[in-house]
Amino acid sequence: MSSGIQALDITPCTLGERCETLRKEVRSFLREELGERTALQRAESWMGVDEDFSRKLGERGWIGMVWPRSVGGGEFSALERYVVLEEMLAAGAPVQAHWVADRQSGPLLLRFAPDTLARRVLSEIARGDTYFCIGMSEPDSGSDLASIRTKAVRGDGGWIIRGSKIWTTGAQRARYMIAFVRTDVSATAVSATAVSTAAVPDGRDRHAGFSQFLIDMSSPGITVQPIRNMLGEHEFNEVFLEDVWVPEENLIGQQGDGWKQVTAELAIERSGPERYMSSTELMLEMLQAADVEDDRHAVALGRLVADYGALRQMSIGIAGMLARGDNPAVAASVVKDQGARLEKLIPELAQDLFGDKLALNSSLREVLSYTLRSSPSFTLRGGTPEILRGIIARGMGLR
Ligand SMILES: Cc1cc2nc3c(=O)[nH]c(=O)nc-3n(C[C@H](O)[C@H](O)[C@H](O)COP(=O)(O)OP(=O)(O)OC[C@H]3O[C@@H](n4cnc5c(N)ncnc54)[C@H](O)[C@@H]3O)c2cc1C
Repeated sequence: MSSGIQALDITPCTLGERCETLRKEVRSFLREELGERTALQRAESWMGVDEDFSRKLGERGWIGMVWPRSVGGGEFSALERYVVLEEMLAAGAPVQAHWVADRQSGPLLLRFAPDTLARRVLSEIARGDTYFCIGMSEPDSGSDLASIRTKAVRGDGGWIIRGSKIWTTGAQRARYMIAFVRTDVSATAVSATAVSTAAVPDGRDRHAGFSQFLIDMSSPGITVQPIRNMLGEHEFNEVFLEDVWVPEENLIGQQGDGWKQVTAELAIERSGPERYMSSTELMLEMLQAADVEDDRHAVALGRLVADYGALRQMSIGIAGMLARGDNPAVAASVVKDQGARLEKLIPELAQDLFGDKLALNSSLREVLSYTLRSSPSFTLRGGTPEILRGIIARGMGLR
């Protein structure tokens, strides 16, 4: 008898010789460009910003790697791109400035934007000097993205956008935002707590009536207000959009297709190795500090390394799915969910195993302090565990 449950398949994948040759090239580039990095710098993972470094990556062809050459890409495979990202993350290379544009804004434009607009902006991204921010979350809408209130109405030969976005990473340096907004203003925001399905009480689809726009961040009417994170850093912002005019050509895809597009964008956002590697440097510090005579260390760190290795294989499997043109949305949600769990477990384990020895090991102490204070964000950014598990359950036919 069929249970109706769909199997979750992440086919293992090997990286191959071309990838390993590229890995050597990336390592030697990183050594030359970054020199010896401190453990704390490496612990930053993908949070460091250096616009010169981003431009150098652009010159090497390591931004927009899988895009067509006609739009400034390098036509590398998804596996080759994986290797470059993995090396950048392991080194804690300062890649944050261009990360969002390379990871998700460019691919979104490539897939949904009109040819002319996509062509112009993609080549700018690939040069490493044009950065993007994600305009999805709002003060009352995070997990429940369908309850956003920011609206776009037609006006002056284009669109006029009014509302606000929050937790907008890198808005202070972004040239563009891709904003998810409501274009069917007859449908008012309905909270998911009021309804349990996609249909609102009067039968309308609560996922209908949204669109995405490319917004030039220098447009009149935009205010970027910094928000400091727990580390005291200015990483994200609240962005106010007060009657911001955008031309018609900046509508991405079709009016009303915003939900389909934003869910595709989120699947890309969750698919990379940054979703399990954020605490890598701390794990390495722990392995160095481990006492080989201590059984507690052997068991806990052995398990940790095995989990990390399994996640890496799954993450490479997702790159393989992308290389084959398969849709990795459900599998990527599993890696993001389990990856963020592991990223958060590592600082907890470090406290447990080495808490009484920190005074003697300044490197471990500094990296632990940084990772611990970053870790609350690991399960929030890119989707919380409850939301990811809902996607996984739906993808497996369980709900
Ligand atoms: C470092 C960082 C960077 C970010 N960058 C950006 C960015 O650049 N652009 C952007 O748009 N957003 C960004 N975000 C916002 C991020 O996408 C949201 O934090 C996330 O979607 C969760 O939304 P929320 O914070 O409003 O929490 P809420 O949605 O209020 O969730 C709070 C808790 O309730 C749970 N919950 C919510 N709904 C359900 C449900 N239906 N069933 C069960 N449990 C539920 C959640 O799992 C969570 O535990 C960033 C967040 C962080 C931490």
